Amino acid sequence: MTSPVYLDHHATTPVAPSVFEAMRPYFTEVFGNPGSLGHAYGWQAQEAVGTARAQVARLLNAAPSEILFTSGATESNNLVLKGLVGARRGRSTHIVTTATEHKSVLDPLARLSRDGIRVTVLPVAGDGRLPLDLLERSLGEDTALISVMAANNEIGTLQPLEAIGRLARERGILFHTDFTQAAALLSLDVQKVPVDLLTLSGHKMYGPKGVGALMVGSGRSGAELIAQLDGGGQEQGLRAGTLNVPGIVGLGEACDLARKSRESDAQRLTTLRDHLKETLAAALGDLRINGTWTHRLPNNLNVSFPGVDGEALLHALPEVAVSSGSACNAASGEPSHVLLALGLDPGLARATLRFGLGRPTTADDVDFAAARVIEAIRRLRPVSPGMDTPVAT
Ligand SMILES: *Cc1c(COP(=O)(O)O)cnc(C)c1O
Repeated sequence: MTSPVYLDHHATTPVAPSVFEAMRPYFTEVFGNPGSLGHAYGWQAQEAVGTARAQVARLLNAAPSEILFTSGATESNNLVLKGLVGARRGRSTHIVTTATEHKSVLDPLARLSRDGIRVTVLPVAGDGRLPLDLLERSLGEDTALISVMAANNEIGTLQPLEAIGRLARERGILFHTDFTQAAALLSLDVQKVPVDLLTLSGHKMYGPKGVGALMVGSGRSGAELIAQLDGGGQEQGLRAGTLNVPGIVGLGEACDLARKSRESDAQRLTTLRDHLKETLAAALGDLRINGTWTHRLPNNLNVSFPGVDGEALLHALPEVAVSSGSACNAASGEPSHVLLALGLDPGLARATLRFGLGRPTTADDVDFAAARVIEAIRRLRPVSPGMDTPVAT
């Protein structure tokens, strides 16, 4: 059996060959602990971590001293939210976010809210974007942080980072963005766009799993965080634990690769993604596309098929690796909170496919996937002629 065509790059990406090669010596040869400052094994590991820190910083035009290594985006997001609240103990703290954030932002905030922190989860417009006037109206004297993702992992919607950042800076509020989905494809210069805290993950950008980063802007007062892992004092005391040297080397290399190839990757994937959309539309009629088309990740297409059962749809597509509208909550089978926030009803949210193209995706992959999807939809779609809407049962 040949492997299915992989169009699920929002879930994870393969490690790029050059990233894997860069990591390899750090498992077996250069295995020292970067905290061992008494011998060459430690020095070599420390030097490799320093190089990677500079590579991550360069991707964002940040300073190397502003980059902390973590175990991934989930940890970075938890560290920002819980770390900031911890540092502000005793002061009234309000945090503003959106309903379409990743669960690694929403769940920590739900916990903090149960603990008495004031949290505002703003709705988004029908196209997935955060209306700035809503954001502005939600801000108060005690607002300490705005956390809004750069690019959504389900619908690819890009949020207006620059405008949010400017508003935050005017009001003296910190701005955190989860940049995980954007890092491989979009550029961001933190000297120009006012972002104070930024989350990255290795495995969403052709690096390894289990490593990520948090940028903590040093120029901003109030950006103090309290560690969530205490121990050996690594990472400026903000994240204890022996550094994952091979993973960190891989993340650094992945950042270098992203910096060099993001522009051409974005162009190529936009063309392929648009071709996928047009092929599906030509065969299936008007597509119900979720999220704005204009402010969108180049590699994302998210489509709902009214009247089709989501579960049956995935089962009908064994040769195409994609996610459905309940992907992120696969265990619970709950429909996606992102699609519900756009106003889709649970049935339509489940009848949704998320396509995530990636660096290895070819035109043949896209044509093959489109043909399989068209076949499956024609088979599963309600058979009333000329009808696109669910048939009541
Ligand atoms: C995947 C993802 C995460 C979680 O990243 P991990 O490194 O797997 O913890 C967080 N935010 C977004 C937007 C993601 O896509």
